Amino acid sequence: MNKTDIRSYSLDQLENIVSSFGEPKFKAKQIYQWIWQKGAMNFEQMTNLSKKLREELNNAFTFNTLIRTHQQQSIDGTVKTGWQLQDNSIIESVLIPVPKDNRYTLCVSSQVGCSLACAFCATGQLKKVRNLTDYEIFEQFLKVNSMSKEIYGHQLTNIVYMGMGEPLLNYNNVVKSIDKITNPLAFGYSTKRITLSTSGITKGIVRLADDDIKVNIALSLHAADDDKRSKIMPINETNKLRDVIDALKYMYDKNKPRIGFEYIMFKDFNDSIEDANKLMKLTKFFPVKVNIIEYNYVEGVNLKKASDEKVNKFAKYLVDHGVMTTVRRSRGKDIDAACGQLANKIENK
Ligand code: SF4
Repeated sequence: MNKTDIRSYSLDQLENIVSSFGEPKFKAKQIYQWIWQKGAMNFEQMTNLSKKLREELNNAFTFNTLIRTHQQQSIDGTVKTGWQLQDNSIIESVLIPVPKDNRYTLCVSSQVGCSLACAFCATGQLKKVRNLTDYEIFEQFLKVNSMSKEIYGHQLTNIVYMGMGEPLLNYNNVVKSIDKITNPLAFGYSTKRITLSTSGITKGIVRLADDDIKVNIALSLHAADDDKRSKIMPINETNKLRDVIDALKYMYDKNKPRIGFEYIMFKDFNDSIEDANKLMKLTKFFPVKVNIIEYNYVEGVNLKKASDEKVNKFAKYLVDHGVMTTVRRSRGKDIDAACGQLANKIENK
């Protein structure tokens, strides 16, 4: 019989488990801290528990840890790692170091594949297989944090939910993983360091606000009117821009998150001054920073990268009109680790 992963239990459930072994309830808190604060991956490590309790736990439960399948390092230092899950699915996480700014960012995956089929995205070409559990997300954080310390001598400074999958379509587990990363009883990391990137799931954004989840938000905007956006992001058919902006405004009014618009610039599609004007209109409702992102080639996609000249002109136009704007040159594109490129392509390398 397959044993259940101990990390799938809440603190309350752990209390019931230790009670059923005839142990006092405070042992549950110790187990919880071993798992979520100290990152234990087996029961042997839990040295303040009796040997008898560790054996009982080991007989009844397990840790289905991620198994590293592949790893590549880009010439710019970005590290992409593939992980095999218990059901043999593969996901990827990316470590993006910027030593000069003391920034070490994890781009974490939240689903196996993705159902949203954005036209420019390699993950969207993979069918959604399933949601990740909170501990599968948390373990990417733990493992990449260790990796960052090992390779760059620095722990992670930022986490972006921007890897494979749409985080707000795995709402419960993503929020639980954020709790595990930020709860003082668990890892105690600052929510200000976490950014959740969404393609614009209106209900999910409102729910984040209502649940008081104080992470930063990055909206994958990529086109500033419904017609164009629906052409490259089918989710826009059911989550119109007006509603997404209203939801972001609602969240801003409640929790004051930092909000960013991600805008991949495509040649002759969304790179005109008319597009810039439309985008500007969407920045009037709350403070927002626009990130213009270089498009990374994805096989089978009929979109092209905008010229540097167009990108610079577009960015300057926004800045001249008072919109905070940065142009992000892509990281890790030589290893298919850049934005929109994650698709477990290692076997082709
Ligand atoms: S861009 Fe994000 S939401 Fe769109 S298909 Fe890719 S992973 Fe899914």
